[in-house]
Order: sequence, then C-alpha cells, then structure tokens
Amino acid sequence: MGLTFNPIHTTDAGGRRAQLRLPHQTVETPVFMPVGTAGTVKAVPQDTLESLGAEIILGNTYHLYLRPGHEAIRRMGGLHRFISWPRAMLTDSGGFQVFSLSELRNVTDEGVRFRSHLDGSSHFFTPEHSVDVQIALGADIAMAFDECTEYPADRARAEESLRLTMAWARRSLEHFRMHQHEVSWHGEIAGSQSLFGIVQGGMYRDLRKESAERLIEMGFDGYAIGGLSVGEPRDLTLEMISEVLPILPAGKPRYVMGVGYPDEIEQYARMGVDMMDCVLPTRAARHGLLFTSEGRLTIKNRQFAEDQGPPDPACDCMVCRRYTRAYLRHLMQAGESLSATLNTIHNLAYYLGIMRRVRASLEAPKAN
Ligand SMILES: [Zn+2]
Repeated sequence: MGLTFNPIHTTDAGGRRAQLRLPHQTVETPVFMPVGTAGTVKAVPQDTLESLGAEIILGNTYHLYLRPGHEAIRRMGGLHRFISWPRAMLTDSGGFQVFSLSELRNVTDEGVRFRSHLDGSSHFFTPEHSVDVQIALGADIAMAFDECTEYPADRARAEESLRLTMAWARRSLEHFRMHQHEVSWHGEIAGSQSLFGIVQGGMYRDLRKESAERLIEMGFDGYAIGGLSVGEPRDLTLEMISEVLPILPAGKPRYVMGVGYPDEIEQYARMGVDMMDCVLPTRAARHGLLFTSEGRLTIKNRQFAEDQGPPDPACDCMVCRRYTRAYLRHLMQAGESLSATLNTIHNLAYYLGIMRRVRASLEAPKAN
C-alpha cells in the first residue's frame, strides 16, 4: 500500500480536511509543501523545518540527478537518509526543469535529450529513466514524467503536448509498477512509494478534462494538475482548476503544482486542492520580500531602517518573536547570509500558518 487518503470533512464548496498517510509521515491536508530543490529548502536547516511544522517537502529530480547523482544517493540509503529528513518527501519528474533550465533540448516520443545547465554535458531522459531516478531517490511520492505545456500555446501545440504527456504517463506507470519494490527503504519502513499522474492540456478546458479522464483510467495513486502558474492570468488558472477538480476521484489526493500567492493557496485549498508547492515564499525571502498579515513587505526599504517592530506583528514564528524589521533590513543591506535564513523562516511560517488555519476552518462544523 503506497498511501491512504482519509477525508475527515468535506465542505459544500468542496474543501477537504483530510489525512494523507505516507510511509514516512502522516500529512495533515490541505498542505503546503516547501520546495527543497537540491536536497535543501534553501537557507533553512532540517530541524528548523520540523519546528515550523513542515510535514512534507519537495526534492527536484533534475537537480539531484545531475548533482550529486541518483546512484550516489541510492548507495547512501536514499534521499531521506542522505539529507536527514525523516518526514515525507515528494520528487517531481524532472520534466519541468529539463524544459525550463536545460539547453538544446530535443524532444521525441521516446524522451528528451538535453544539456546540463551546470556543465553542458548531454543527458537523455525518458519516462522510464525518470521513474528509475525517482525510485533511487526514494521519496514517498514520485511523479509521472510529463511535458509542461508552455503559455501561451495554440490548440494544435497543446494537443500535441497532451498526446506526449499521456503516452509518457502510461509508460511511467507501467515502469513504476514493475520496479517500485526496488526503493532503498523497502522492507525497512512499512508502505511503498506512490506515483501521481499529471493533468496537462494547456488552457483548454476540454483538453484538461480529457487528460484527467485518461489518467484516472490508468489508475494513479494521486492526481496533480500541472502546467499552471506558467504566466497565464490568474482567472485562467482558476478556471482550469475548477474544470479538473470535480472530475478527480474523491478518495485520492489532488495536488496543484507550482502555486501560488498566499491568497491563492487559501482559495484553492477551500475548493478541494489537498497539496500545493511553490518556490515563491523561499525565493521571495532571499530577495527580501516578506509575506505578512499586513501585506507584502520589501524589507530593504529605507522606512524600516530603525523600525523596532517585528516583521509581522500577527506572526509568532521564531523570527518575529526575536528580531526587528530594522535588523532584518540591516542583514539584507549588508549581504549577510543570515538574511536569507531569517526571511525564509518567516515566509514559510506564514505559508504553513495559512494552511493550519484553513485546515481548522475546514474541520469545523458548518455554521448555519
Ligand atoms: Zn514570522
């Protein structure tokens, strides 16, 4: 058994309060998953992530495959052991980074040839290879290899991209079912890895619907909606999510990839999205952008030079309890590395806090 998904309460609007049982952790959903690209959520140590209440983090297959290499990680007992993260993990398929970071891509039905953004070396990724790499990494949840359709994409392009993603989904699943027992923690930890399919289809409602229906027929452990937050207007993102959510099986987790701003993650969670991830809170933090109950704060602004208040008066995270806006501004101005750490801890606390409140409200009996 890979995962079990137990809805506790579902609202009229479709929002689900649930528990997602994974081999390394029972995750309370809806959940926000911090992104740990290369085996680290940038600037934040693992024990701090635990204190913040992060129950599941992401790893990026493309980055870990290139460096230090999935075989090295397998030999060291898998990604959980290598990075000392005992809780749940999810790896993406590598597809998104292959298409966004690498150079000189050549896509065929078989797979995609690309050059590493690190050293220009040539690599070939197929659905089977992506699954092999993800089994070596050994996250609780792996993702089917897909092509993230760019925006804008015309109808013919979106159809062609979808055809490829559906063929790759089937190959990913077949290969995964044959090899999933090869995960390094097999027999040591109860349960097995899970594989999610990814709904694509560009910004075309009927293609999204077709994609979801075909994936459900194949029978994945969970379903993701990909290809969003790729530059499209927000009402279009919402339209695609609204189209797909009601089609997806109620008994399986639903994951929207790569979203979003604080108000977006709350909105989508209330609609019935169970899992979300985004680099926004961590990346913005490194650029000095803080998300707070009073709105966005550009901490390097002159106005904070002698501001003795906490970054967010309504936040009780370890940063807001201890440090002032003036100090965070100084760290940023001085280029101190603690700047990234403190800013990121607060932003993650803010995101995780939103989901904690959403979970509490989805659990409460309906007021009438
Ligand atoms: Zn805070």
